[in-house]
Amino acid sequence: MAASLGGTSAGSYRHAPAVAPRKILSRAAGVFYLLGGIACQLPPGDIRLSAGRNLTIHAIGYFELVIGLALLLTGHRWPRWTYHPLVAGGSILIAATIMLARGSATAEDPLITFALPMIAGTAFFSWRGAVVHGLIVDIAAFVAMTYIDLYASRIIIVLGGLACIGASVGWLARVGDRIEEDPLTGLGNRRALARRLEFAVESAARGNDGLAVVMLDLDHFKAANDRGGHAAGDELLVSCTRRWREVVPHERLLFRYGGDEFVLLLPGCSLGEATELADELRAGLPQEATASIGVAMWERGDSSSLLMGRADVALYDAKANGRNQTVAYGDPSQAAREIEMALKAGEFVLHYQPIVALEDGTVRGAEALVRWQHPKRGLLGPSEFISHAERTGSIHALGAWTLDRAVAAAAAAGTTMVASVNVSITELRNPAFSKLVSATIERHHLTPRRLIVEVTEGVYDEHDQQVITSLTEIRALGVRVALDDFGSGWSSLRWLTSFPIDVIKIDGSFVHGIDSGATSFEVLNAIIRLGKALGLSIVGEQVETERQAAVLCELGCDRAQGYYFGRPAPDLPASGLPRPA
Ligand code: C2E
Ligand code: MG
Ligand code: MG
Repeated sequence: MAASLGGTSAGSYRHAPAVAPRKILSRAAGVFYLLGGIACQLPPGDIRLSAGRNLTIHAIGYFELVIGLALLLTGHRWPRWTYHPLVAGGSILIAATIMLARGSATAEDPLITFALPMIAGTAFFSWRGAVVHGLIVDIAAFVAMTYIDLYASRIIIVLGGLACIGASVGWLARVGDRIEEDPLTGLGNRRALARRLEFAVESAARGNDGLAVVMLDLDHFKAANDRGGHAAGDELLVSCTRRWREVVPHERLLFRYGGDEFVLLLPGCSLGEATELADELRAGLPQEATASIGVAMWERGDSSSLLMGRADVALYDAKANGRNQTVAYGDPSQAAREIEMALKAGEFVLHYQPIVALEDGTVRGAEALVRWQHPKRGLLGPSEFISHAERTGSIHALGAWTLDRAVAAAAAAGTTMVASVNVSITELRNPAFSKLVSATIERHHLTPRRLIVEVTEGVYDEHDQQVITSLTEIRALGVRVALDDFGSGWSSLRWLTSFPIDVIKIDGSFVHGIDSGATSFEVLNAIIRLGKALGLSIVGEQVETERQAAVLCELGCDRAQGYYFGRPAPDLPASGLPRPA
């Protein structure tokens, strides 16, 4: 299966150089045979050649033309081993032509064409193969030249010349290979992968065989590196590679993609086979190491980058799911099930972070931030599961739960507490989202103005009208909309103008810059003024120091949130009181 792809890099003496994929080999051999065939059809320069011999030379020529054409048209599909007799046969045919022409003035003309099998033999096969083919060429040339009685000095020059051509071509082909080799592990590098993958995708598109991509990432590699230094990290990578080499069907289809990431190409493999092999790779790891693996199958019409993207998503899922596992792309059911089960088991909790009025430091509201009290992995922050929930669709159930809990808490907390709830764009794409919001506030009898929905500026397709529709409907209910992390993306201003919003939350990076000097007052001032000019309320996020709070207040920012005023905590802070101590 994998062997059918031919060579990659890893310029080991056992392998053909990377310049030797069958596509190029078949073209080179095809052209060489065509040249030989044409040469045989040229009129002999000497009429002393008998008709019988002349005919045989022409017949050899026709034979070579047929082989050459066949190679050009279909050679990339011929098994690799067939090229050994083809290249060796080339030398024998040249020798035969020379011997048949013995006695004519042009008998030695084809000598130069021995360079062709010499080039093919040394550039396209392993060193061992190259030496054997080189010897075949030299022996065939020697026999032919002796037969036509060439002077010894000419024989030596021709044989020496051929040997030099062979050695130089073979050496150059292998030097070129090193560009595609990872020096640490000896595996093919990213560049080699790109080339092989392109080729594998092309073959998959031509045939009916599958193509699987296995993307592998060592867990906590950075920690291992930090603990034992780079030498220990390198040693781990090398020992993993050594073990994997024994497991994979074709070691040259295993690549080091970067850092601690590896990619294995499996042409002709089904998803089941690839996943099984991926598990074997994990089982073959050195004792202290674990790995996360994503597997994806090529689908008709896929480009190589799309295929890699899928494997990457699966790998991400494997990591987000707790690492040390194999996840196949397109099987989100397990992940979605896990989140839904956690919801049922009551493993999600909300922490609340106070939002204070900068003018007097009193608590006016709180932002609900979701956490997952995972039975095995401890308390997980949103970065560990939100994007995952978004992809699997379980964000809708999780979001509905968050909204319900936050609204219930705000309703129970008195009449002034405002609850801010984060919602993802995925939730806003749901046409029923505004109905969910209105049902939730009605159920808990919360005044709509006491709910703020926070949306993060981020991946948003301008044509996605539903997002704007949802926001407009929510605002029509009286619920306010905040643009979260304002200024963190590239499209902040476009968001400001195209979205119906009430509040902007200035991204923490701007606030941190107040202390470090990275943010000029002018920028912050301009953001606040712009917000004010649009009639928006402004919240400064991630305020950690008194100075940051003072500067924001001075610039006219209304509200602030951050560790300086209070960290997210399980209980809703009391509203109207000065910030928590
Ligand atoms: P966000 O909405 O911008 O939330 C503020 C984040 O900043 C929170 O991180 C909070 O813990 C952190 N933070 C607060 N004050 C400070 C400070 O002074 N310094 C620093 N360095 N950080 C501070 P958290 O809880 O990890 O949440 C991260 C993001 O996850 C949130 O960013 C929000 O976008 C998202 N998120 C949280 N809960 C939910 C949810 O229920 N649904 C959705 N869709 N997204 C959520
Ligand atoms: Mg937020
Ligand atoms: Mg934010």
